[in-house]
Amino acid sequence: MRAFTVRLKFHGDLDFFLGSRERGGTVARGLGERTSVKDVIESCGVPHPEVDLILVDGQPVNFAHVVEEDRMVDVYPVGFLSTQFKKDRLQTICVKRFIADGHLGKLARDLRLLGFDVAYNPHAQDRQLLQTMKTENRALLTRDRRLLMHAVVQTGYCPRSQNADEQTIEVIRRFDLFDSIAPFTRCLRCNASLQKVTKADVIEKLEPLTKIYYEQFRRCTGCGQVYWAGSHFSKLQKRLEQIRGQFS
Ligand SMILES: [Zn+2]
Repeated sequence: MRAFTVRLKFHGDLDFFLGSRERGGTVARGLGERTSVKDVIESCGVPHPEVDLILVDGQPVNFAHVVEEDRMVDVYPVGFLSTQFKKDRLQTICVKRFIADGHLGKLARDLRLLGFDVAYNPHAQDRQLLQTMKTENRALLTRDRRLLMHAVVQTGYCPRSQNADEQTIEVIRRFDLFDSIAPFTRCLRCNASLQKVTKADVIEKLEPLTKIYYEQFRRCTGCGQVYWAGSHFSKLQKRLEQIRGQFS
């Protein structure tokens, strides 16, 4: 088979995944055999869950599409050309269940604070992460692009920022979560949902000052942790205002 060249143009912020010399530009790949467009894209460093639309010479294709001669491939992230090619999108946008890898503990906590269901075990091996992702139908959050490229990953996201606050904004944007924010509904420790309880239900567990100053309480249905509108709550309010500011 004659060797051929595939040129790829990565749009939007997908150049985050390219080598420094390739950023902002077009990547050329010389190939000697029929190759799926998914493999060509991932050979450039871009994980498939980050790709929402592929155009080969202007025509939409899916990941299994095979390239076998000179082609121009345009690769788009979620949120690009959003009014066009609606039927040809490759990603699920609105996902509300996640699993975060061991390096994203702050992001996991922040998302739980906003009410989102985030499985997180700092000691989980990659194999366990992928297993839980699959059996519980969760989207994978990781900055490990090799892990994100694993064939079993259908939905996932690599936070660009290393800052947890910015990562939270990124995840809300990527998965269109803004309208689903439900603060104070999920346990930060174990991810189970919180239930409103009366003061009498939890009074034995409270510190003396908490008994005096607070009237509204929630209890975790998983681990039993009691939450109330103390200093924790004003911090949460501040955080919510910051997030709303980003989306207004
Ligand atoms: Zn809990």
